[in-house]
Amino acid sequence: MGPTVKLPLHGHKETIMRTFKTFMTEQDNRKLKSVMDKFIPFVKSELNVDSLPKVHTVTGKDAQDKKAFGWWDGEKVTICPDGRHPMDVMRTLAHEFVHATHGHTNGEDGSDHENEANAKAGVIMRRFARANPELF
Ligand SMILES: [Zn+2]
Repeated sequence: MGPTVKLPLHGHKETIMRTFKTFMTEQDNRKLKSVMDKFIPFVKSELNVDSLPKVHTVTGKDAQDKKAFGWWDGEKVTICPDGRHPMDVMRTLAHEFVHATHGHTNGEDGSDHENEANAKAGVIMRRFARANPELF
């Protein structure tokens, strides 16, 4: 065989890495979705509300320039789950859901709203962990 049919090894490796990364991302997404399916109804009952805002997920390149793991914009909660443990992502969700259901705007560090959201998210996570120990 001539050199024209030889596979460039480097390119081949990159293909494998890309496939592996896609596989990991799909696994992560599936895991995250299954945890969220349990978490959302749990938070509804904890916060005593019938509905919660829509959750928007930002990943990959789009997430790289974001400065926070999550935020509430008055319409929806956005989260950036890349590279984070699902339970960390749930804590962020709980925190933002507290802001949303309590009618907060953006909480500044150290503000009452921020402290309240952190405290309530902490309580929710402890109770959720107790109710679903297999997820942790
Ligand atoms: Zn906050």
